Amino acid sequence: MKAVVFDKTLKVCDTAKPERKKDEALIRVSLAGLCNTDLEITKGYVPGFKGILGHEFIGVVVEADDTADTGKRVTGEINLACGKCGFCIKGLERHCPDRTVLGIHGKDGAFAEFTTLPVKNIIEIPDEIPDTHAIFIEPLAAALEILEQITIPKLRDKSILLIGDGKLALLIAHVLQSTGCNLIVVGKHKNKLALLEENRIQTALLDNFKKSKFDIVVEASGNPSGLELGIECTKPRGTLVLKSTYASAFNFNPFHIVVNEITVAGSRCGRFSEAIKFLQAHKLPLEKYISAVFDLKDAVSAFKLAAQPETLKVLLKIP
Ligand SMILES: [Zn+2]
Ligand SMILES: [Zn+2]
Repeated sequence: MKAVVFDKTLKVCDTAKPERKKDEALIRVSLAGLCNTDLEITKGYVPGFKGILGHEFIGVVVEADDTADTGKRVTGEINLACGKCGFCIKGLERHCPDRTVLGIHGKDGAFAEFTTLPVKNIIEIPDEIPDTHAIFIEPLAAALEILEQITIPKLRDKSILLIGDGKLALLIAHVLQSTGCNLIVVGKHKNKLALLEENRIQTALLDNFKKSKFDIVVEASGNPSGLELGIECTKPRGTLVLKSTYASAFNFNPFHIVVNEITVAGSRCGRFSEAIKFLQAHKLPLEKYISAVFDLKDAVSAFKLAAQPETLKVLLKIP
């Protein structure tokens, strides 16, 4: 089968079709999404990464222990957990210390004609959610994770600053707006901020942004300077949520975090079931967030486009 492989360099090549183990589903991938994590891996975010990239996908189950699963249009939770440890028992498989992660850590990914996942990880996509929306389930789940970490009822009377206007940040903006909070999004790209303005989300270009203090700041810019701004703009005893992952370390001064007693929350993956419910309950303009769709064989060009600052979601269509 054809797959997008990263092994120091990125290439599309022929590789063996994955073998389905017991309790797993073999999935024929139809559409996959590039995310910043994929770009970061190609820059060295996961040291020693070697294998098939990709963790945002939709596809059809072609083989499983239970024939009732075959033919289902699915996506899948990307963390493959042990199921036995303290985290797994609490339903926090995303924090299982023995986990592998699809296309990120120890498990070949979904930028390929076929992929496998444990049946317990796969989630059927309701018919009313089109492919162009379903492909956002994984990043939307990551955006919704914030609401699991910060008490939602309290969000309604809070002022929130979201730093960043990239793919994930736009989804976070919709998630935060849905709580009715007082939200402003600051970013560097006029075209991306305009998409939020169309949905009555208040925005500011970074150059025109007058710094002030917010109850909650969400940093999703992917840029160290975003973290600096976030620390500066969080009220004393406020909360700073970090959604960015960075390819390399950088210097920062925790002075204001200490003096202002800021609570810092790291935030990563979320529950897919919540993302599906959110897509059913809200009309999001997700088609506008897709910049281009490439054929799997042209994945190298897709990565190049995805790395451009103006680009939003880039998808890979798998024939
Ligand atoms: Zn992702
Ligand atoms: Zn576990």
